[in-house]
Parts: sequence; C-alpha cells; structure tokens
Amino acid sequence: MFDLNGKVALVTGGNGGIGLGMALGLAHAGARVIVAARNAEKSAAAVAQLQAAGSDSFALAADVTDEASVQALFDQVGERCGRLDILVNNAGTTVRKPVDQLALAEWHSVMDTNLTSAFLCCRAAHPLLKRAGAGKIINIGSMMSIFGAPYAPAYGASKGGIVQLTKAMASSWAADGIQVNAVLPGWIQTELTDGARAQVAGLNERVIARTAAGRWGQPQDLAGVAVFLASAASDFITGTAIPVDGGYSIAA
Ligand code: NDP
Repeated sequence: MFDLNGKVALVTGGNGGIGLGMALGLAHAGARVIVAARNAEKSAAAVAQLQAAGSDSFALAADVTDEASVQALFDQVGERCGRLDILVNNAGTTVRKPVDQLALAEWHSVMDTNLTSAFLCCRAAHPLLKRAGAGKIINIGSMMSIFGAPYAPAYGASKGGIVQLTKAMASSWAADGIQVNAVLPGWIQTELTDGARAQVAGLNERVIARTAAGRWGQPQDLAGVAVFLASAASDFITGTAIPVDGGYSIAA
C-alpha cells in the first residue's frame, strides 16, 4: 500500500530542510526522486543521500518563481523519465517584517516563491501527472495557513493561498485521477527557522512549551506523511490539509 517502486517523484526545494526530509521518505519507499532547486552544490549533496537510500535520484536546476524555468524543468522530467507520478511543492522562503515595513519587492518575492511557484509547477506538471493515471500532488503550507502571522504577513498570505489552491486543483483534476493535498508543518528545525530561533528572544522556549510533543520538529518528521500522501494508501483523500506539528495547533 505504501510501495512507491516504479514511481517518479519531484520535490521542489528538495536539497535541504523539509524537502530533503520528505525526499528521503519517498526514496526509502522506492521512488525515483528528482531534486529541483537553485543551489547545485546542495542539490548534489542531497542526491548523494538519496542514492545512498537506494533511489536512482538526480537533480535539475530550477527557479520555481520563473515560468520559463519551470516549464523547462518539467520538459526535462518528461525527456529523462517519461513520466511523473508525484509532485511535492515545497520550495519556500520568508521575510520577517510587519506590513508597514514590508517592501513591495519583498511581498512579491515571498508570494512568488511560496504560492505562484506551486501554481506554475502544477500547471506545467499536469500533462505528465494526468498521463500517469494516478498522480499525487503534495503542497507544503504551514501552521500560518491557519493562524495569523503579524510578523510575516506575506508568508501567512502565501500559505493561506496554498490551502485554497489545493482545494481548487483537487476539484479540477479529480477527473484526471490526480489527488491534491496540503501538509501544514509546525515549527521544524531548518535553515528557514534557524535565523528566527537565534534572533527572536524566547522563541525556542515558546515553541517547545506550546508543542504537545515537547520539542521542535525535524525534517524527517515529514517523511511519513509524504509517503502516505504519495502512495495508494491515500487514494480516497483529496483537497485536504494535514497538520504535522507535534500538537502545536491544539494549544489554546
Ligand atoms: P529551507 O530554507 O531549509 O529550504 C527551502 C528550500 O527551498 C531550499 O531547498 C531552497 O533551495 C528552495 N528554494 C527557495 N527558493 C527557491 C526558488 N526560487 N526556486 C527553487 N527552489 C527554491 O526551508 P524549510 O525546509 O524550512 O521549508 C520548506 C517548506 O516548508 C517551505 O515551503 C516552508 O515555508 C515550509 N514550512 C517550514 C516550516 C519550518 O518550521 N521550517 C514550517 C511550516 C512550513 P535553493 O536555495 O537551492 O533554491
């Protein structure tokens, strides 16, 4: 039921953090994992880890904010693999500034990287996923898809958009045999959060106190949900958003 042998998966931002955690889960379940990101050195290191996990993995350079780059990415996937079964829209960024201090360029940068990228990748991947007959899309949202994020308004808006985009595509593409779901991670220890942890007084302790599991999440905590949503085990689940937050969202 969780077997991904013979499946091809592409993970945007799969060269580190949560993306690599999920990519490793998919690799261990048998998928051939393609890493799509900008930093070639980091991507090569990620591919080495994925190959060590038994995946016939490779990397493709792509900027997911750029329409032509995204189209070229999926053209290459078609040429090299002839198929795509699983797309994980994970690439993301943030700018920690309240609305009154946020420049328009910063707003666009966050929206383009976190939300427009998912639209572009899904649109370009659609013919391949449709041809696979049982395509799976996993969009990475956040707890900030649900909660207000006064210190990161563009981030919150982009992640709220991910949930609505997920529902729209799940409805549109059900007839094509494609399931589309979102994952909403809680606080996960990665490069994205390392800066905030160091800079924001008390954040480290507040996260631990509010998270029922009593700790920060690690990238490998996202591996299981990625395998579940990519596999036949989730064939009757679409358009939903699954928190993976150690209980962060249940606290009052
Ligand atoms: P990281 O900063 O560790 O990783 C971000 C990844 O995105 C990198 O692999 C980076 O690769 C890639 N990326 C960024 N911009 C682009 C771009 N324009 N084109 C292609 N790839 C890009 O972050 P996390 O692992 O923490 O975050 C991954 C996802 O999880 C994000 O969507 C984030 O919002 C979400 N998330 C994270 C949480 C956390 O606590 N860490 C909580 C909730 C959600 P490269 O620079 O090489 O292009």
